[in-house]
Amino acid sequence: MTETNRIRVEILGTGTSTGVPVLNCTCDICTSPDDRDKRLRCSVYVQAGGVHLLIDTGPDFRQQAFRSVIKQVDAVLITHHHFDHVMGMDDLRPFLFSNRTAIPVHAEPGSADVLRSMFSYIFRDGSYPGVPRLEMHEIRGPFEVTSREDVNRSIRITPIPAVHGSLDMLGFRIGGFAYLTDVSEIPNASFSLLDDLDVLVLDALRDRPHPMHMTIDQAVAVAGKIGAKQTYFTHMSHEILHADFEKRVPAGMSPAYDGLVFEASH
Ligand SMILES: [Zn+2]
Ligand SMILES: [Zn+2]
Ligand SMILES: [Zn+2]
Repeated sequence: MTETNRIRVEILGTGTSTGVPVLNCTCDICTSPDDRDKRLRCSVYVQAGGVHLLIDTGPDFRQQAFRSVIKQVDAVLITHHHFDHVMGMDDLRPFLFSNRTAIPVHAEPGSADVLRSMFSYIFRDGSYPGVPRLEMHEIRGPFEVTSREDVNRSIRITPIPAVHGSLDMLGFRIGGFAYLTDVSEIPNASFSLLDDLDVLVLDALRDRPHPMHMTIDQAVAVAGKIGAKQTYFTHMSHEILHADFEKRVPAGMSPAYDGLVFEASH
């Protein structure tokens, strides 16, 4: 990988809000011996142009950061404020030990409001020693994020507005890579932001309909319309085995799994 023109993406988690296995469940998927059926909560780690980004910091973030040996976080992008995407935020604190420069957290204005309440000790009070220095930035259009180690390195992020049931959420595009978890519908205007993709990561919960997520068939149809060279599906429940999912989708599409690494053009 040459740093300037490739993006490296590591999938940190591919599970729905409960994770898979689900606590107290003994179904075939929750007891599957296939490691690809073990799904932590959804998040990805992106390295591009010398900038290190996290998309979402769910409740498994600490464990994911250990597993993937994450050494640097320059910024956090939040898709939306549901607990399975944000509850690990306090575990960013160790990334501030050696570099005290605040870590920017970028979120859509509605989610930013909720996060300021959920984590008021971080974003409002700074009420005790050891509060992580995180700085909220409301997303109102494409924006740049800069390395906390070298201010000359920055990358451009395009937010992709989408719908998650009754909630507005954001996907993100960086070069030839786009990430869209927790979507039930992609508005027409957002499709034009998703052309010429190398890799798309897209929500595909399960086969049974859900008001806030796409089913596998809906996700395959949307992925076909977007036409990325490669699509990986994420936010999967305990109702689908990785091996079964893989067999039924067209060429150029497959379920993601925790620890999957790929590259895209920048
Ligand atoms: Zn979710
Ligand atoms: Zn189960
Ligand atoms: Zn959600």
